[in-house]
Amino acid sequence: MGEATRIVIIGGGPGGYVAGIRAAQRGADVTVVEKDLLGGTCLNRGCIPTKALLGSVEALHKARAGAEFGFSVAGEIAPDFTRMMERKNEISKTLRDGIHALFKKNKVKLVEGRGRLAGPGKVEVTTAAGTETLMADKIIIATGSEPARLPFFDFEQPTVLTSTSALELTAVPQSLLIIGAGVIGCEFASVFSELGTKITMVEMMPQMLPLEDKRLAKQFQGIFKKKGIEVLLKTKVEGIAEYGADHITANVEGGRQITAEKMLVSIGRQPNTRDIGLETVGVETDGRGYIVVNDRLETNVENVYAIGDVNGGILLAHVASYEGLVAVENCLGGNVRRDLRVVPSCIYTMPEIASVGLNEDQARDEGYEPVTGTFRLGASGKALAIGEAQGYVQIVADSKTDKVLGANMMGPHVTDLIHEIAVAVRNNLTVKDIGDTIHAHPTIGEALMEAAHDVHGESVHVAG
Ligand code: FAD
Repeated sequence: MGEATRIVIIGGGPGGYVAGIRAAQRGADVTVVEKDLLGGTCLNRGCIPTKALLGSVEALHKARAGAEFGFSVAGEIAPDFTRMMERKNEISKTLRDGIHALFKKNKVKLVEGRGRLAGPGKVEVTTAAGTETLMADKIIIATGSEPARLPFFDFEQPTVLTSTSALELTAVPQSLLIIGAGVIGCEFASVFSELGTKITMVEMMPQMLPLEDKRLAKQFQGIFKKKGIEVLLKTKVEGIAEYGADHITANVEGGRQITAEKMLVSIGRQPNTRDIGLETVGVETDGRGYIVVNDRLETNVENVYAIGDVNGGILLAHVASYEGLVAVENCLGGNVRRDLRVVPSCIYTMPEIASVGLNEDQARDEGYEPVTGTFRLGASGKALAIGEAQGYVQIVADSKTDKVLGANMMGPHVTDLIHEIAVAVRNNLTVKDIGDTIHAHPTIGEALMEAAHDVHGESVHVAG
């Protein structure tokens, strides 16, 4: 048996740690270098902490709806923000401990320190104990990203928050100005509006959630409006009029000033590519600093790969992990190409939003003659039973071939439902395939069968 391939992975987020475990399972000699906490942004400052807080406010929301459900609670139902934050931290820790255990089980070595490339096949790590050099046959860069910090705002001010510092708040702000109505801004708005914060969102684009179907985004904006969240579209922040000790005042387009206790800047991410030694071997980056890769996830330098947020593809945890698996196959002699045609997009607001494949406009832009089928959750027995009947599911199909092209949905658990459509799109299934499949009753999932029937104008439960 030959020597095991030595793979060094810089960064232990969902890209790096998944790559590490898979590479070890395939017999490689693997070291993961992590400067902070295993699990990366996702587990410590992103996906999981936000979902933990959303879990808390969803429970709070249900408890407050006792009269509708037929129960009363003695005493006040009041949020305990300190406990919510503790719970969030506990969940992250449980999952982090899980990765440490998986590393142990799979014999993945962890070096805690800051890694940087130091010439061909060399990674230098600065640890608490000093500097050590790791030799590698293959290097995978998985250093991820961090909140974009426009020079425009002074992030040293305690009133200016990024998604990271918003997850470390010790008290609920009375008012919050959110710059950017993308996924992260909307998730934070969902959390804090339920906690009683007065929220104003400012978005440059003509719709909230600019990557989602425009009809869905419009309905969603109506739901936010009913919650008392003010959303200003096609509006830019022109500058900060005042950084007070306990408030901030921003000038927004149209001559308006908005004052809030805190301001959350959620306008995107920037790659962690500074000071990681890319220049020592000549790894190419693009104009925004993201590492350029081909669809085998190779950089321009032989034996150096880049996965996840740092390559600027689709900045999602499940994409980072998928890319980790692809890169490992290629490190170990395979020839796998990244395929990002079917990536579910999920937004964990109240209600949730999910989409995959093409929406109606995108399908038309790609030359299809799309046809859609829709099912409103107001007619779903399960949605009514759980008191969450807001929203709908919509399937988009090719009218010529009946192939499923995509779906977009809003409502309870749609982030779990979306995978049925992901499987359909990836495998060229037809609307008939979905419509002919028996879906359990009563479930939210059966809405997809109804929407499939509706594509053919034959939904039994669609009124008009
Ligand atoms: P990261 O998770 O950023 O991990 C990179 C790791 O590398 C970090 O641990 C970092 O400490 C380490 N590192 C960096 N430089 C070095 C160095 N020089 N040496 C050693 N270690 C280094 N995505 C979803 O799919 N679903 C969601 O619900 C979701 N919610 C999100 C909510 C928020 C608020 C945010 C900010 C992001 C969210 N994301 C979500 C995006 C998701 O977190 C990222 O896409 C994902 O974490 C990217 O994984 P990664 O492994 O590429 O990088």
